[in-house]
Amino acid sequence: MQNTATPTHCPYCALQCGMNLTPTPDGTVEVSERADFPVNRGALCGKGRTAPAVLARNVRLTSPLVRDADGTLVPASWDEALDRIAAGLRRTRAEHGPDAVGVFGGGGLTNEKAYTLGKFARVVLGTSQIDYNGRFCMSSAAAAGIKAFGLDRGLPFPLEDIPKSGCVILVGSNLAETMPPSLRFFTELKENGGTLIVIDPRRTRTAEQADLHLAPRPGTDLALALGLLHLVIAEGRVDEEYVRERTAGWEDARAAAMAHWPEYVERITGVSVPQLRETVRLFCEPESAMVLTARGPEQQSKGTDTVGAWINLCLATGRPGRPLSGYGCLTGQGNGQGGREHGQKADQLPGYRKLDDPAARAHVAEVWGVDPDSLPGPGRSAYELLDALGTDIRSLLLMASNPVVSAPRAAHVEERIRSLDFLAVCDVVLSETAALADVVLPVTQWAEETGTTTNLEGRVLLRRRAITPPEGVRSDLEIMHELAARLGVEKGFPTDPEEVFEELRRASAGGPADYAGITYRRLAEENGVFWPCPAVEEAVEEGEDALLDAPLPDDPARETPTAHPGTPRLFLDRFATPDGRARFVPVSHRAIAEEPDDEYPVLLTTGRVVAQYQSGAQTRRVAELNAAAPGPFVEIHPRLAARLGAAEGDPVAVVSRRGRAVAPARITNAIRPDTVFMPFHWPGEGRANSLTNPALDPTSRMPEFKACAVRLEAVERE
Ligand code: SF4
Repeated sequence: MQNTATPTHCPYCALQCGMNLTPTPDGTVEVSERADFPVNRGALCGKGRTAPAVLARNVRLTSPLVRDADGTLVPASWDEALDRIAAGLRRTRAEHGPDAVGVFGGGGLTNEKAYTLGKFARVVLGTSQIDYNGRFCMSSAAAAGIKAFGLDRGLPFPLEDIPKSGCVILVGSNLAETMPPSLRFFTELKENGGTLIVIDPRRTRTAEQADLHLAPRPGTDLALALGLLHLVIAEGRVDEEYVRERTAGWEDARAAAMAHWPEYVERITGVSVPQLRETVRLFCEPESAMVLTARGPEQQSKGTDTVGAWINLCLATGRPGRPLSGYGCLTGQGNGQGGREHGQKADQLPGYRKLDDPAARAHVAEVWGVDPDSLPGPGRSAYELLDALGTDIRSLLLMASNPVVSAPRAAHVEERIRSLDFLAVCDVVLSETAALADVVLPVTQWAEETGTTTNLEGRVLLRRRAITPPEGVRSDLEIMHELAARLGVEKGFPTDPEEVFEELRRASAGGPADYAGITYRRLAEENGVFWPCPAVEEAVEEGEDALLDAPLPDDPARETPTAHPGTPRLFLDRFATPDGRARFVPVSHRAIAEEPDDEYPVLLTTGRVVAQYQSGAQTRRVAELNAAAPGPFVEIHPRLAARLGAAEGDPVAVVSRRGRAVAPARITNAIRPDTVFMPFHWPGEGRANSLTNPALDPTSRMPEFKACAVRLEAVERE
């Protein structure tokens, strides 16, 4: 392996910051600045800077583990471990049918792995029961985007548009903690004279940067957006020409908004009418403006409608498809965008095609060389799949996810996982979920393998291998190749990522997320390419045969003037609906699934801290990050703390109908007096997701992570 720097990308969040990796004599890598990547221009957060720590042998798994007769996980050979997995899955299939085998993926998997996992589930296992942890991330925004625009791409414009816009409303995003290098886009926005409005129940580090901070009661952002739209209408600020020319369904959405009087909205949200009016003024006066949502409005049992309400506000004011304007979602996980495009989601096929669309099934089946009728239909969503473990689903193959910590109602999910007949986990470390497995397979990591991811802008990126993986680990692609062969499918599961990507290009061709014109060589040369990117513009018009015949990357003829440049900005001329018009979706306020009452009088909301990532399986193993964020806490307003008799640092029990968590109090005026906050990165006694509510959004099947009823109890210090 060369000792020069390899340009690549961070393994963690959806910003996918560029970084250079240089091998060190001890077999790991050093991270250095990579200024040529426009998203972060060299800046990294602490997670990115310390990411190589998880490559060390003393932190990670380097041998397969199998459970012995005493119930202990012990090292085993790869053949024994793979044979056991194949036998476990085969036995379940024979005894209970293919749908008794479940597959659970992750938004951290590369495009190649997510694609192969979906194909493996449907072609090798023949199961419909596949979903992934991205369902818990951005599925409400995805569902709302498809309803309104006919297409879901997190941001329909590059991040670099943000500083040039006139106003940005950031709804439920604490990017100062979740993706710090992105904060500069908002700082530059303000330096350029633009306005930043942050909507968050907490005065977060992001909210502190805002020109205006609105702190609604958790779970009421839908009403807030409706109140703003009401005022837009009442004050005559609707862009009538845009609504007439570029949208459909306005009258019903208008009627719904007019039923939400500002005073009524003030009572629901706690945001005053003058603040609502000021927000409308700041948003409507500039020529350009945008709304960006994240997990706050999305992780609700009405998340799709909540995002829909923000989209309606954008459409009524003529924003989407206009320069420096529109609606976007700040996707969270490293490959949260690509992870939802290539078929590991319960209802999707590669290219963001729908699994119940006969034409999509026929296209993908042809690429896969199988009968379309052999492909199963849509399966359960992530929480429903986890809830069915041990009953309808008897065996589970899990990759790159740690639901024991990250799923809602986590104690119940843990119990369901424990009740499985057979569990196989592929992971880098022995996560809390892997520790429950019958077989654990240690996998290669980001710096040790090549693959592509798609960041929150829809920019497809090449992550390059910089070092040789240690003895004893294998890539997820090799694992699926080996398991497919053991289960009787000898072909169709290559281990070379570029070979998988070439197939993915064909499978996605002509679909909403069209990667057909993207090659590894282009990704390397162009520093990323935005989808949709058809192979060549003529080929799309000529039909699929021409696409499939498109030259491969090593063919010099590929570099023709007809190469599609990719699509950084969507919807400039038309939306991706049959008639090209965006759709208003009429929505109305409704309460959260579990309102506070006498027994559980306080609201709990959950989120992240800057030094930990998701379930913390990797970042909790990094000394520097642990020192910065060693454990959970409960953020409490001073008035609530006084009623409880709790001082700073006192242990506090937070109790919901689903469980109990104990963590030290962090007393702050930055949170509403009716709400407490807990970060969700830790297992054990302080596991925030022991408390959260799995009430699901009817469309996206997103659980209600962001609001549930709890009570607080003082706990004696030991
Ligand atoms: Fe990595 Fe995200 Fe931090 Fe960038 S912001 S360094 S992508 S974790």
